Amino acid sequence: MKYQAVIGLEVHAELSTESKIYCSCSAKFGADINTHTCPVCTGMPGALPVLNKQVVHYAAKMGLATGCTVNRLCKADRKNYFYPDLPKAYQISQFDVPICENGEVFFYVDGEKKSCRLERIHFEEDAGKLLHDEIDGTVVDFNRCGVPLIEMVTKPDLHSSAEAKEFLEMIKTTLSYLDICDCKMEEGSIRCDVNVSIRPEGSNEFGTRVEMKNINTFSGAVRAIDYEIARQIEVVENGGTIQQETRRWDDVKLKNTVMRTKEDAQDYRYFPDPDLIAVEIDDEWYKQIESEIPELPISRYERYLNEYGMTAMESRQLMDSYSKASLLDAAAASGKVKPKAAANWILSDISKYLNDKELELENTKLTAEKLVDLICLIDAGTISGAAGKKVLVQLFETDETAEQIVERLGLKQVSDEGAILTLVKQVLDSNPKSIEDYKAGKKNVTGFLVGQCMKASKGQGNPQIINKLLAQELAKL
Ligand code: ADP
Ligand code: MG
Ligand code: ZN
Repeated sequence: MKYQAVIGLEVHAELSTESKIYCSCSAKFGADINTHTCPVCTGMPGALPVLNKQVVHYAAKMGLATGCTVNRLCKADRKNYFYPDLPKAYQISQFDVPICENGEVFFYVDGEKKSCRLERIHFEEDAGKLLHDEIDGTVVDFNRCGVPLIEMVTKPDLHSSAEAKEFLEMIKTTLSYLDICDCKMEEGSIRCDVNVSIRPEGSNEFGTRVEMKNINTFSGAVRAIDYEIARQIEVVENGGTIQQETRRWDDVKLKNTVMRTKEDAQDYRYFPDPDLIAVEIDDEWYKQIESEIPELPISRYERYLNEYGMTAMESRQLMDSYSKASLLDAAAASGKVKPKAAANWILSDISKYLNDKELELENTKLTAEKLVDLICLIDAGTISGAAGKKVLVQLFETDETAEQIVERLGLKQVSDEGAILTLVKQVLDSNPKSIEDYKAGKKNVTGFLVGQCMKASKGQGNPQIINKLLAQELAKL
């Protein structure tokens, strides 16, 4: 029998606010254990939460960027459960009225456009972290307790690990475009739970789902999904049935094990948090949030692919970086350079420089205007492509214009045909051996002679003109 996998994801993203969601403690990652804490986030009796407005703003922003309806009036609910990393024994989350509902995220898988609907996005507080230590036993660190999260819950619209991966990548890119999450996977800024079921191919009914927790990387999600699909098929093929349960994915042993059997929403005894009032997003605020949504990654991708004539890979690489794509768009908007030419610089030399120096574009002095000038200087033959690379390095590091750098480094290309012809003749005169070889049919000496001409011009001769004049002189022999 052939099976179809059905997958739904619950994605958590930590929001990059300065302070926590219900207190003024820092939300920054990596501080000494239990230094970002106060009576509110350590759950002291009587301490009262005060909502951080930025959290609502960021959550609504993600909702608008994913086609959700934003509920202009929403509230916070208590989700009750006990675990040592949750000192209040309840998490302040949202239950029946989440901030955003009914969205849809588009993405490409092997050149094919797909989508996955979002059931909801809600905001909530993160729990603390249990640190297991051989000597001290288990220690609980409350620094993460109260760090704001948004949880994005999808409909079960995905059908393979590849689709799940591209969906997750698109969520991550969107978060980075909106600048609401630092997207540092290694710090747990984006985590997801994966729900998997299988059904006979062609069937419209859903099978029983298994939820897997503890997934910290997108590649881990792919491994967990592929493992679980295979496990369920094996169970069913052997005449068994799938139990609704939560399993823990172990990305080292590459297998999952049962954590607990089905829990229901009922088990959490959700109720409205009596310490918090409803949140209203008025028209003015809503418009402000709306005005902050940039062009979305998928739209950029499609523009690069369809209008700029770039390959899928190039378009994807540019889309992935908000700052690189913005540089490209600004350069193209000048109308002075071909978008493809600007993209080539960004994807090759500019990316290489940034990688080597471990820098972000915005932390350098390169601007779209400078890049445009550089490309124009090369197009006009004022400098060679090789000289352009030297200029680029300076553009990153100094306030000078491309012209000033060319002047300072003496990189102007000699395109004067008279001057180059003199040079070509000198080179031919001083290389009689090469001329003999050329006459004897060894046409590959041309390359050597071009090199000699470049050298004689101190690297400033226009290579096209050197090639042309040299060919002309050789032909006369
Ligand atoms: P609960 O409220 O019990 O957590 P939800 O309906 O919220 O259940 O579903 C949680 C996640 O499980 C969602 O991402 C949803 O898309 C996914 N899901 C629901 N049913 C299935 C199924 N049969 N197979 C795979 N995923 C599913
Ligand atoms: Mg759920
Ligand atoms: Zn606090």
